[in-house]
Amino acid sequence: MAASQPIFRFAPSPNGYLHLGHAYSALFTDCWARKMGGIALLRIEDIDTVRCRPDFITAAIEDLAWLGLTYPEPVRRQSRHFADYAAAADILRTKGLLYPCFCSRSDIRAASGGQTDPDGAPIYPGTCKRLSMAERQGLLAAGVPVQWRLDMAGATAEACALEIAQAEPSPADPIRMRKAVPERWGDVVIVRKDTPTSYHLSVTLDDAVQGITHVTRGMDLYWSTDIHVLLQALLGLPSPVYCHHTLIRDPHDEKLAKSRGSQSLRDLRALGWTPEDVRERLGF
Ligand code: GLU
Repeated sequence: MAASQPIFRFAPSPNGYLHLGHAYSALFTDCWARKMGGIALLRIEDIDTVRCRPDFITAAIEDLAWLGLTYPEPVRRQSRHFADYAAAADILRTKGLLYPCFCSRSDIRAASGGQTDPDGAPIYPGTCKRLSMAERQGLLAAGVPVQWRLDMAGATAEACALEIAQAEPSPADPIRMRKAVPERWGDVVIVRKDTPTSYHLSVTLDDAVQGITHVTRGMDLYWSTDIHVLLQALLGLPSPVYCHHTLIRDPHDEKLAKSRGSQSLRDLRALGWTPEDVRERLGF
């Protein structure tokens, strides 16, 4: 593989069957990888070991192959790399940028004052940031379920300082221009209670480990990119080029989702759709 070859990725979470929205993202990624003389990798984002299932992984690979999309082996499965994510979290912890949070969902909802982040989740008001060291140690020792949050104010300050210290600050959208990140997201979770990582941490680390040069994904993840660029600066990782594509919507103008009963590619196939029908419907 030439060092300068663009590397793209399609990174589904196997918590259901793929639908037209996934097909659009996979075809979009494949189209741009080809146009730029690059390759597209498949990554299975299965950090949620309860909701993600092996049969959904097998089905996703089959559905993609049915569409004409195959990927180099080995396919990276995030659930096999928890130790790597834990090590990255340790780097942030050592820098003093993570703090333990013991709040339950209802605590957070009650304290958020109704403010929500771009994912629609309540913005965390920083309750546990104010705990003393002794209180933290007591709760950790008592085995109270814990998640680790990024101290956004500290993290953005540190990232700005690192960037300013560089001889050549990142040309595209420097972190210090992204002033609204802390207000928009609050102190995001970096290590969840139920799994030793989070979407933001694992996606950022994996894009670097896999040498991804171009991230093509849906507009629903547009604001998340700010967090990923921040984590890249803190962990000393390169920033890929980001491109967020339009989302495929159902007739009620809702984003497709298995939870809303959107038809899967398998359903469409059972109804007689061919891969060409899918491509034509999606404009490829
Ligand atoms: N796994 C994410 C999803 O299925 C996509 C992550 C990404 O492309 O950054 O929505």
